[in-house]
Amino acid sequence: MPALELVTESQEATAAVGAAVAEWLRDGDVLLLHGDLGAGKTTLAKGIAAALRIDAVVSSPTFSLVNEYDAGMFAPVTRLYHLDLFRLRGEDDLASIGFTELLAPVDGATLVEWPERAGGLLPGRYLLIELEAAGVDRRQLRFTPFPADGSWTERMEALRAVINQVVE
Ligand code: ADP
Ligand code: MG
Repeated sequence: MPALELVTESQEATAAVGAAVAEWLRDGDVLLLHGDLGAGKTTLAKGIAAALRIDAVVSSPTFSLVNEYDAGMFAPVTRLYHLDLFRLRGEDDLASIGFTELLAPVDGATLVEWPERAGGLLPGRYLLIELEAAGVDRRQLRFTPFPADGSWTERMEALRAVINQVVE
């Protein structure tokens, strides 16, 4: 399964990729957003949330580690769980937010910024989205599904199709 890669040239373009991802998203999905500070993780999350008709101002959860939003009536997911583990202090924090349940969401989709802060505690199935600065306004995005097996073939094709609509 080849990873899906693209470059965006602006914050708006990254948000537009998020909107495309939102169209593809389903309850049960977990997206891990990996990248340095300023790479565009929250920008992508905001693009996803806006396309799910989430009216609230979506920003990285600072004190709570997780924010929860109800998606709009016709959105493809029920709710969105947005985690930012940058300020995680330890395993106790993970337990207090119900991290294990958030990694297997039955009634929504989960986005995790700074997933590496959770140590090895990752779900068995997720889409890794790596973001990397490639210039002042350029960002490289790479989508890699785990596990790397045929179970992702159809969904990765679908993801490629929605993303191709917003990126040339
Ligand atoms: P993170 O959550 O990864 O720390 P943010 O999304 O909060 O990153 O911030 C990304 C910053 O980079 C913003 O200030 C945004 O304006 C800027 N930026 C510049 N070019 C891009 C791009 N192509 N995609 C996303 N953000 C970009
Ligand atoms: Mg962020």
